[in-house]
Amino acid sequence: MITHFACPRSVGAIIDGCTTAPADAGTLEVRYPGNGEVVSTLVESGADEVDRAARAARASFAQGPWRRKSVEQRGEILGRISDIILENAEELAWLECMNAGLPMARIRHTQIARAAWNFRFFAEVASQSVGQAINQDPRYLTTVLREPVGVAALISPWNAPVALSSMKVAAAIAFGNSCVLKPSELTPLAVHRLVELIHEAGVPEGVVNLVNGRGHVTGSALVAHEDVDLVSFTGGTQTGRLIAAEAGRRLIPTTMELGGKSANVIFADADQDLALDGALAGIFSNNGQQCLAGSRILVEASILDAFVARFRERAAAIRVGDPMDPATEVGPVISREHRDRVLGFADGAKGGEVIVGGHALDIDGGYFMAPTAVLADNDSPVAREEIFGPFATIIPFRDEAHAIALANASRFGLAGYVWTSDVGKALRCSRDIRTGVVWINTPMARELRAPFGGFKDSGIGRESGPDCLAFYTEPKTTTLAL
Ligand code: NAD
Repeated sequence: MITHFACPRSVGAIIDGCTTAPADAGTLEVRYPGNGEVVSTLVESGADEVDRAARAARASFAQGPWRRKSVEQRGEILGRISDIILENAEELAWLECMNAGLPMARIRHTQIARAAWNFRFFAEVASQSVGQAINQDPRYLTTVLREPVGVAALISPWNAPVALSSMKVAAAIAFGNSCVLKPSELTPLAVHRLVELIHEAGVPEGVVNLVNGRGHVTGSALVAHEDVDLVSFTGGTQTGRLIAAEAGRRLIPTTMELGGKSANVIFADADQDLALDGALAGIFSNNGQQCLAGSRILVEASILDAFVARFRERAAAIRVGDPMDPATEVGPVISREHRDRVLGFADGAKGGEVIVGGHALDIDGGYFMAPTAVLADNDSPVAREEIFGPFATIIPFRDEAHAIALANASRFGLAGYVWTSDVGKALRCSRDIRTGVVWINTPMARELRAPFGGFKDSGIGRESGPDCLAFYTEPKTTTLAL
């Protein structure tokens, strides 16, 4: 049974632990993609609000109520955040469902549980990180300690708002930084609640601040703010370029987790049932809106017809509908405009021959579409561009070398999937496919201890325990004459 909660009437900024919503601020409608109705109002943070948020973060960092705590004291509070997230998991999942349209029953145990885990995980990483002492020259003792960088700007997208925002906040504050978080203007609700819960857990005021609004208003003001010392960005490649350019001008570090067009390579010798399940999960989970989606399904030519027939049958049987319904497998996409864009790729002019779906679904006025797949060449727009919806592009290949060449013929390089029973072939593919992550005989399985991020246009930098330690801290070398 689903417990229903209330959407806040409006969400604005949270600065120094206080909710703010200036009377003269602009507003945006926040909609439920399941029926298109307005469920809340976003009060946009303009340059003044961003300035206040960045200054609050700077002041908290300078005064040190957080960074000067011992790692155990911080760890205790991070553990409390984790507990509070789990205690409020139903509400967070409900808000995420109301706003991002993600199937509630699934995200409660995946993305919300993951958000809770992020805080425990980074507390553990911080507690395990110790400095270095060097005494190779007996006249000196040199120590290398890692210090928090300062104020982190954390910018996240709409496709997994709580999971991605929590990862950034957890990593930033675990190492003693203060931060200003800016989630997507399309999905502010659950992230706003998350920041309230973070304060309930006892994080001092000013350490985690939230601003809300559009990228070119709120986001760009944040990146340009002089008090921001680093930017962690997850979103589209074009936006990443803009932010990286500004960060370059200001000479501050960034990580860029960007778009993908990942190849899901299915060889004839693979367990075909497993590969089919993996291909369906790879493109249709999270309503098809995943950076990691295996959106180019490369299929060995000898099994193409059989694969297409089974994929068509299974995709057509996927339960699309109300994301609140526990039986729903695929919910709506984020907006009407996004659905129009995604379905625009089903037009033959984009190079694909539709084998299943390719049309909108008329359910409750929501932004639903049928799970879709097209057959295409790897050089057509449906194979080149990130579509970011429940839309697969199936591409045949001749042999291993051809599969690797096709997988690499993309400007993106986020993830790759390989399905085969030949271990040598699997490892050769992993070696030769130019992506940050390769999954073999499994759909996406995220390991926080291992680097995650992309080659090429899919990003710069990595997110993981050790990579975040390196990004969110500065090494400090001190040499003492003995
Ligand atoms: P987007 O780039 O449009 O927006 C992402 C965030 O950046 C939003 O908060 C937005 O308001 C903000 N923004 C936009 N312009 C800005 C600017 N000029 N300055 C500062 N901030 C700005 O992306 P989206 O549509 O929200 O998300 C979808 C994209 O995110 C896809 O390309 C997807 O692949 C990518 N993504 C990547 C990963 C990953 O880990 N690599 C994970 C999830 C999503």
